Amino acid sequence: MENCIFCKIIAGKLPCIKIYEDEQVLAFSDINPVSNGHTLVIPKNHAENLWKIAAEDLTAVHLCSKKIIQAMKDALNLSGVACVQLNGSSVNQTVMHYHLHLIPRAVDGPSLPLGPWKMQQGTLESIQDTADKIIAAL
Ligand code: AMP
Ligand code: ZN
Repeated sequence: MENCIFCKIIAGKLPCIKIYEDEQVLAFSDINPVSNGHTLVIPKNHAENLWKIAAEDLTAVHLCSKKIIQAMKDALNLSGVACVQLNGSSVNQTVMHYHLHLIPRAVDGPSLPLGPWKMQQGTLESIQDTADKIIAAL
C-alpha cells in the first residue's frame, strides 16, 4: 500500500527497531512507547483491520506475539503484558495497517493507561438482547 507507513517500514523505506521478522510478520518497537518494551506486531500483507486481515496472517501475528511476550518475560522484569488491537478511527486506530500492541508492565512500574474501565453492572435483559443480535449474525 503506497501511503501506508507500516508498509514502508516492511519495504525498508522507513527505519524501525526490528525485534523479529519472518516471511509473514514483522515485530518492531513502537516509536511512542507506553512502557519500556512496547512492541508492535504486523502482518507483511497490508490489511487495514481485523475485518480485513486474512486468517493465516492473523494466525501468524498472534503466534508471533506469543513468542515475543515469552521473550519479554525472560528479558524484562515484568508483571504482565497488555495485548491491544484497535479497529477503526473511532476507537483510536491511527495507523490503518493491522497491528497488535504488546505493552509490558514492569514489576513495580506504573499502571498502564489502559483500563481498568469503570465496572458498572449491566441489566441482564440488555446484555442478552445485544448478545442475541451478535449471535444471529454469526
Ligand atoms: P494505533 O493507535 O493502535 O493505530 O497505534 C499506532 C501506533 O503506531 C502508535 O502507538 C504509534 O506510536 C506507532 N507508530 C506510528 N508510526 C510509527 C513508526 N514509524 N515506528 C514505530 N511505531 C510507530
Ligand atoms: Zn500497510
